[in-house]
Amino acid sequence: MTARIVAGIDLGGTAVNYTFLDERGQFLIDGLCEHPARSVEGPDVCLAQIAEGLTIAAGKAGVKPADIVAIGLDTPGPASASGVLSRRGSTNFVHPQWAGYDIRAGLERTFKLPVTYLNDGNAAALWGHVSLFGSENSATSVSAIIGTGLGGGVITGGDAVVGRNGFGGELGHVLIPFNLIRGIEGLVPRCNCGRTGDLESLCSLTAIRQSLLPHFLRRQPDHPLAKQEIGAAAKLVRGLAEQGDPLCREIFRVQAHALALFFDEMINVFDPDALIVGGGAVETGPEFRRWFLDEIRVGMPTQREEQSDIPLHVIPNGDTAGARGAALDAAKYVRERCL
Ligand SMILES: [Zn+2]
Repeated sequence: MTARIVAGIDLGGTAVNYTFLDERGQFLIDGLCEHPARSVEGPDVCLAQIAEGLTIAAGKAGVKPADIVAIGLDTPGPASASGVLSRRGSTNFVHPQWAGYDIRAGLERTFKLPVTYLNDGNAAALWGHVSLFGSENSATSVSAIIGTGLGGGVITGGDAVVGRNGFGGELGHVLIPFNLIRGIEGLVPRCNCGRTGDLESLCSLTAIRQSLLPHFLRRQPDHPLAKQEIGAAAKLVRGLAEQGDPLCREIFRVQAHALALFFDEMINVFDPDALIVGGGAVETGPEFRRWFLDEIRVGMPTQREEQSDIPLHVIPNGDTAGARGAALDAAKYVRERCL
């Protein structure tokens, strides 16, 4: 009997990450399995890279390519719900041939296999959800992933809410009542999307660089980070916060409280079974992670008694989350169609 394996392919700007999932729901690769993406060279080169990397990854995982029955793909957006990249292009797909390119269909032609598509935030959210609830469940979860921007997703009944245009789960651009956060009085947090005071404008690496670090350094101009270029300084904030630097801790407290206000909105919209956090702020030592999660609870407005114990989790295996979520999406497709 041949095995029925699904592959998960997480395409980022510079690297492709792979995983494989067997019929029992076991992942066949533990950590990262990366191959250069060469996205800047356009679809033809990139798709050939994806195919080459898949063969290498299959070899490492002991998977026969002939046993792969479907592929799950995830990429950064903006893209439609079915995997057509934005006509306006994006930071990760700058080559002109990517504009309006149907990357899901392109991969289907390359591999002659069914390919499912999720954006990277929704894929990571699906992995976070299934790691808590298993693949057959009726639970609802909201995942926020803190990176350069803020991505994530809402999962209900085992599916990501992708929406009419594929923008479901664009959590970073939800406005929050940021003036409730103490310590940032006078700050006008602008997001690259044009909004002021959305979640990403306060809770992302970009927010640290553009808003939070400049704000706190103005109050403390003798801080060592004030001597550095702001982009380089922003990347040092997490490490210093972990070491207990008060200014850097304060930046992460503001981020935790921004997330708290956002999660409060989600609790009232979905009454979810779990809230899940991923990304840089929690890919830290256990003490800092615990403090950050505690600060999220501290920053939340008072909840109804029934909802006050809402579970707050961290996405496990964060760097593989996209590939794992994409594979889970493909596995669901296979199950539903009895392939
Ligand atoms: Zn925004």
